[in-house]
Order: sequence, then C-alpha cells, then structure tokens
Amino acid sequence: MLNLKNVSKFYAKDGVITSGFTKVNLELHLGEFVVITGESGSGKSTLLNVLSGLDSYEDGEMYINGEETSHYTEEDYLAYRRKYVSNIFQNFNLVNSYTVYENIELALLMNGNKKNEVKNIVLELIKKVGLQKYKNTLVSKLSGGQKQRVAIARCLANDTPIIVCDEPTGALDSKSSKEILKLLHEISQNKLIIVVTHNKEEIEEYATRLIRMHDGKILEDKRVNKVNLDNILKEKEVKSITLFNRMFLGIKNAFNLPVKFTLMFVIFLLISVALLTNYGLFQASKYESNTLGYTEYFMESDDSRVILKKKDGSTFTDYDYNKISKIDTIDRLVKNDLILDFDLGIYSDNLYLYGVINTDKITKVDLGRLPENDNEVVIKGSSDDWYLDNYKEAIFDENFTLELYNNKALNGNVKVVGIIYENDNYYNDHFEFFMNEELLKNLTTKLNERYYKINYKVNDNYVNNEFYYGLQVSDKLKQG
Ligand code: ADP
Ligand code: MG
Repeated sequence: MLNLKNVSKFYAKDGVITSGFTKVNLELHLGEFVVITGESGSGKSTLLNVLSGLDSYEDGEMYINGEETSHYTEEDYLAYRRKYVSNIFQNFNLVNSYTVYENIELALLMNGNKKNEVKNIVLELIKKVGLQKYKNTLVSKLSGGQKQRVAIARCLANDTPIIVCDEPTGALDSKSSKEILKLLHEISQNKLIIVVTHNKEEIEEYATRLIRMHDGKILEDKRVNKVNLDNILKEKEVKSITLFNRMFLGIKNAFNLPVKFTLMFVIFLLISVALLTNYGLFQASKYESNTLGYTEYFMESDDSRVILKKKDGSTFTDYDYNKISKIDTIDRLVKNDLILDFDLGIYSDNLYLYGVINTDKITKVDLGRLPENDNEVVIKGSSDDWYLDNYKEAIFDENFTLELYNNKALNGNVKVVGIIYENDNYYNDHFEFFMNEELLKNLTTKLNERYYKINYKVNDNYVNNEFYYGLQVSDKLKQG
C-alpha cells in the first residue's frame, strides 16, 4: 500500500546540507507490524515523518495505493494524513488541559464529525483502551501509560489504516510499555503499524517485520512472523470539515510548516480565541462548584452514581444514612465514597499493582479465598492480564505495601488472599481491590483526615483551602 523508491530526505540549514536518510526502498502493506530500530541519528524519525506526510522528501518517489506523491502540496499532504495516517509520539502530543473525553472528541471533530454525533463513539473508544474510570480526568493528571492510551484512542478515532509510532514507550516504565505494546498489537488487525523503538526485545513478539537503520540507510529488512497481506484498502469517506474544525486543523498544521508572518498572526488570533474559550470553561466550572456542590475529588466513575452533600456542610449521621437508603431509587449507599475516586496501589519488591477500591460485598473468589483479617485484600482483574496470568500463585506469597494515591501517610501492609477474574473486559491492567469493613473504614478515616477541606484565617481573612493538602501548624508559631 505504501511504496518508497529510492527516497531521500535532506535538511538544509545555514547553507549546510545534512541528510536525514538516503535512497530508501520499502514496500509496506496493510496487516504488517513493522518495527524499526537503529542508533540515534540513523534517520528513523525522519523516515517516519516522511511516511506520515509530516515532512516532504527531496528525491525518489513515494506511492500510496499506487498514487505518486512527489508533487504533493501542503494541502495534499494534509488530505493524505487525514485519510491514511495517525501518529503516536513519545511525548504523547495531547491537549493537557482537556479531559480524556475531550481529547478523543477533538480528533473526531477535526475529522468533520458533529459534536452531538460522536458521544457514543468516544465512550466506546475510551472503553476500548480501558480508561472508563478516567473519562473526565484531565490528561495532565494521567500517568504516562494512561496518556499513551489516550493517544491510541485518538488514532482509533481517526480510523486511519496506517498508525505510525515514534518511540511510543520511550517515556514509560517497563510495565506500562508492555501494556501499551500489547494494546497496539490488539488494535493492529488490518492496519499497517510502524513502530520505532529503542527496545526491540519488548516488542519482538508482535513484529511481523524488523527493519534496522544505520546512517540514513536500511541495513536489514526481514519478515519475522506470518502476516496476512491485504493490499486492498477501502477508501475512507472523507467528510467535509466544518469551519470550526478547520481552525483547529490550522493551528495543528501550522507548526509543521515554515513559519510566515501572516500565519503567525492567524495563530495569534486563534490562540486568543482559545484562551477566551478556556476562560469561559473555567468560569463555568467555578459556577458549577459553587452552586452544585461539585468537588474536584469526585471523578464521576459511574453514570448512575449520585454524590450527596448536606446543605449545611455537616456530617451524615446514621439517621441520614437510614433515610437515604430507604429511597426507592437508591440501589446502594456507599458511605464516604470519596475513597472510590482514589487510586490504590499495592507494591512489593517484585510487583506493582494498582487500581481502585471496590466496596461491593463479595461472596466468592476464583482463586484463593475471601479476606478474613484486616490486612487482607482480594484483587479483581482481567483473566488475560499479564500479572494475574503469570504471577497468580506468587501473588499470594508476597508481602505488599499498600499506598493510597501516592500518599505515604496512608500506607499499610497487606496480603492478597484471593483473585477474581473478569472475562468481558477488552483490556484491563487496572485492578479492583476488595477488603473487609475494618480496613475500608480505616482507609476512609485516614483519607478524610488527609483531605478534609480546611478554612483558616490569615490576618483576619478566611483562606479557602481548595487543595488536597492538609494544614499543619508549626510548633514554633506563637499562640494566637
Ligand atoms: P533518529 O530518529 O534515528 O534518532 P533522526 O531521523 O532524528 O534520527 O535524524 C537523522 C539525521 O537527520 C540526523 O543526522 C539528524 O541530525 C538529521 N536531522 C533530523 N532532523 C533534522 C532537522 N530538523 N534539521 C536538520 N537535520 C536534521
Ligand atoms: Mg528519533
């Protein structure tokens, strides 16, 4: 589907010409999972940029489905990218001030879809990459692995036949790397995936083809696994873009082009508009927090979940709980459900498992037993999860340290005594932890102590402590 014949890419800067790569010949097909390695500076990124239509080339010919591209203008390249290629980068390239949902939605809007048409698609994609719990979380608050999942969902939203990844796991720890590569593999059916990596070992099992570059040339190119070559590509319907989306494309694309003054001016205008829009969003969320009792702690993990707060701000009593649970439409009452929104990790010298607390009562496990003591937990995860599959017996023997939201103050020691397997999850490295009432109560109390919202007075003014941090008074402070 993608053919390169003697393609070379040169860079000219201050009268000096350097080559990105020279005389590359390649024939890439749908269904291939191509892994490119090579030392730094060998031309891997340059090659990916040319394949992706992010960069032009100076010599040779590149064909997409038989169509020659050397005459392409910037607009042609834009159309080429929209139709054929999505990218995943080492540094994620996401909009950090947007939520997971908004980032994926944005990709769909830029492809000419309307906001009210894309909701289900976005939710489906979020599910596909296992980020349901983070739907409304700002991307800036995600871990590297989670960010890369958003990037993958965005590629899927673009629905292009080619996905080009430049060191997608370069910024990730080895566990997250494994998961991201597995996910890439899972979505690779009938696509052409091209991955540049430093770490060939961790990706080798998925590769159908290994390419090694050196000094701007392809040194080695070998097929390693069976692959279904499918040269026939269904032409993707390219919808017309609305003006609004065109503006976003304008910004995005401008950074890939030589900068001209007029263009800079347009960008300036667009950024001003974007900032004003953001300000509007900020105001709206402030309004929401003030009037609706929204708090930043609650991540809205479930659509049917309602969070209650007493109007006078006082604590719920047993009488209140009783009354609430008698309401017909209430399925279940979770006291202090703040705890549901915090990530819990358990780690030993060998393992790090993290996820969320589930307060549901469980009556059976698939492996091991139910918790009997206060320091025991049951873990639930996907049956094809790497850890739960390969370490199942060893997990029971480990002594874990429990950590709530990276907060050492909430640490404790736990043992895993049971595993519950979940089969219907498309993808899941995110575990759920079950524990007995006592441990749950203990954690809840600690969490509440830690994140209580405090109002304090400085120079006769009340300061609203909106942050997660507790306030501690120094013993050096004078009375009064
Ligand atoms: P890799 O990704 O394999 O580390 P690159 O493709 O980034 O290598 O670089 C290949 C060669 O092209 C290097 O010699 C590099 O200096 C040169 N190069 C890459 N990008 C540019 C650029 N924007 N301007 C000038 N030279 C560049
Ligand atoms: Mg590179």
